[in-house]
Amino acid sequence: MAEYAAAGSECQHGRLHLWPEAGHVEVLADDDRPAPVGQTGRIVPTGLLNADMPLIRYDIGDRAALLPDDGCACGRTLPLMSSVEGRHDDAIVTPDGRAIGRLDPVFKADLPIREAQIIQETWDRMRVRFVPAAAYRRADGEALVARIRDRVGPMEYVLEETDAIARTGNGKFREVLCLVDPETRPAAEARVR
Ligand SMILES: [Zn+2]
Repeated sequence: MAEYAAAGSECQHGRLHLWPEAGHVEVLADDDRPAPVGQTGRIVPTGLLNADMPLIRYDIGDRAALLPDDGCACGRTLPLMSSVEGRHDDAIVTPDGRAIGRLDPVFKADLPIREAQIIQETWDRMRVRFVPAAAYRRADGEALVARIRDRVGPMEYVLEETDAIARTGNGKFREVLCLVDPETRPAAEARVR
């Protein structure tokens, strides 16, 4: 996790070992009780490294299962977790099959934009909603789109100025939202090359 409330790494046998010294990982079922080992639930880590801004049972929306300690062949005894099912909706998907995550850094730069949100509406259309700061000029919006296009590739980009980005129930908003179902990806032979 970017916030380091949980961390892990894959060993040479392709299994994901948690780093308990970085954070304590709980997996909760839909009723908020601990999910049984082997059952997928919400990952709610509690970070142990950041004393200045402690994140306790930080519900990030990712899903995975804790796995039984069956003795990994690598010899490590660190706890095992299934691969993170993740939120498919925070990665952009491209017609050629790439999933592009962590697009949010494009906003965290020098642009006079107070907040912004990238919404992938279709396989080839991206909407960029943004709230301009006072110093905003048209070229800034173009620069923002150029940064996204650098990472994603050619698509239709719709730049939409707005007063505020709609919040979800927890008062946050998702910076990247993918409304495309990855299962519907056009078959390779149907695509223009
Ligand atoms: Zn291992």
